[in-house]
Amino acid sequence: MSLKESRFTIKNINIIGTYGYNLPNNTDCTICRCSLNDPSLYNNEKGIDSNVVIGVCGHSFHQECIVPWLSAQNQHCPICSQTWGIRNLLSAKS
Ligand SMILES: [Zn+2]
Ligand SMILES: [Zn+2]
Repeated sequence: MSLKESRFTIKNINIIGTYGYNLPNNTDCTICRCSLNDPSLYNNEKGIDSNVVIGVCGHSFHQECIVPWLSAQNQHCPICSQTWGIRNLLSAKS
């Protein structure tokens, strides 16, 4: 009898670029810590998709995460502290 053991463990598969947004730098929102290809924590609770904004510095966040972060006193990217400006707004996937 042959010992037939094919144990093949795939530990970590990272499939990038087959779906979702093509984001320049970060793929997770550092504010809510969810993937930018998924809704934010806040929107996930409500079952709605999130828009994603890409800043002029190249960092991306959920729109509803970055908007409350910004205020009159605070106009900086949470990741790199550059002055925040919107480079691009990606609408939620339907
Ligand atoms: Zn978020
Ligand atoms: Zn930044």
